[in-house]
Amino acid sequence: MARLVLKFGGTSVATIERIRNVALHVKREVDAGHQVAVVVSAMSGKTNELVGWCREASALHDAREYDAVVASGEQITAGLLAITLQSMGLDARSWLGWQIPILTDGAHGAARITGMDGAPLIEAFEKNNQIAVIAGFQGIHQQTGRITTLGRGGSDTSAVAVAAAINADRCDIYTDVDGVYTTDPRVVPHASRLDRVSFEEMLEMASLGAKVLQVRSVELAMLYKVRTFVRSSFDDPAAPRPGTLICDEEDILEQQVVTGIAFSRDEAQITLRRVADHPGIAAAIFGPLADANINVDMIIQVVSDDTTTTDITFTVPASSYERARQILEDHRATIGFTSLQGATDVVKISAIGIGMRSHAGVAARAFRALADKGINIRAITTSEIKFSVLIDAEYTELAVRTLHALYGLDRKPEAETKAAS
Ligand code: ADP
Ligand code: ASP
Ligand code: MG
Repeated sequence: MARLVLKFGGTSVATIERIRNVALHVKREVDAGHQVAVVVSAMSGKTNELVGWCREASALHDAREYDAVVASGEQITAGLLAITLQSMGLDARSWLGWQIPILTDGAHGAARITGMDGAPLIEAFEKNNQIAVIAGFQGIHQQTGRITTLGRGGSDTSAVAVAAAINADRCDIYTDVDGVYTTDPRVVPHASRLDRVSFEEMLEMASLGAKVLQVRSVELAMLYKVRTFVRSSFDDPAAPRPGTLICDEEDILEQQVVTGIAFSRDEAQITLRRVADHPGIAAAIFGPLADANINVDMIIQVVSDDTTTTDITFTVPASSYERARQILEDHRATIGFTSLQGATDVVKISAIGIGMRSHAGVAARAFRALADKGINIRAITTSEIKFSVLIDAEYTELAVRTLHALYGLDRKPEAETKAAS
């Protein structure tokens, strides 16, 4: 007997028929004698609809009420799956975040889980052999008693947190692809599926735009050593394939220099022209942005030819762009720039691989390959196991495919034949 957490994302529970299919996956594990907790997302498109309603009601709205609204999508799915499992003769009940409870901080809309007691779930397994169907994405802020949500894609994090709290043997993240690929298979159809990917690389891929797992879920899996797989709910429920295991670096035998390519469209570029070049100027620019919780990513500072002024370029999330502009304009007198230029039609493309630690010149090859395709690079950042370039959004697919091929990540023809047969 093992204790398992099974998580099903939006497309996997999009209709009642798909919820029945999910129930078959759950039944397979229960029939095999396992104790099962299921974490579900809202039905596909539901969260977007709920977010849209909040914005329609008022562009500036109370974040606590936003959470009360958007958390409701998962409540529906949890109830529906429990009903479906019961109709198949299985004992199941739904659990909302506050009922377990899953405790979070008070950062409404992007809350972090601070604690969770797995005891009530374990008691339900031990006493009644009951399946726990848990609404993902939501928790409760203990101090205020208000419902919170964990940020978009947060059900992945709920699943890993539940797995850690009940000391599960495995956490299976079921989605609409059969594992983690070398890049988004929707952009590169011949991307390769990875049997294993290290926590560090998955963390980078997720934070650099691969939305297959929420970043925080990978952090928790790494911290609590949760054995986590990404796999497909569209596989035959009687004989599903194992998917991709997220594991320690040491458990991967054949390590490539570059493991994956990620991209993020949620980027905006800001350039401040002719900023006075003296100590404290970076603090004057980035301090107010940090105070407003705006994440600044790539930063480039160029000394202009008069040596008394400098140009500074940096990126912020596209969603923070207008706010960032406003803050900089408000602080114009202290910063002292002559003009502010911005662009939102930009994308960040990143290559990730632990092998970069021991190989020189990996990024240089990319710069050459992109130049050969006529793609201009606006900004570059590098760190130990990744590098990123900021380019015009219109070249996204071309750049991703170019880098994917450059590092030998395209699926080999033999594998393609095998997959087709
Ligand atoms: P769910 O609703 O199940 O949580 P998501 O839409 O959040 O599913 O995540 C799955 C999607 O992530 C896939 O459909 C795929 O397009 C996208 N994706 C992006 N990068 C990758 C990658 N490297 N490997 C697999 N899927 C990826
Ligand atoms: N339903 C939420 C969202 O769409 C959480 C999730 O799917 O993980 O972001
Ligand atoms: Mg998701």
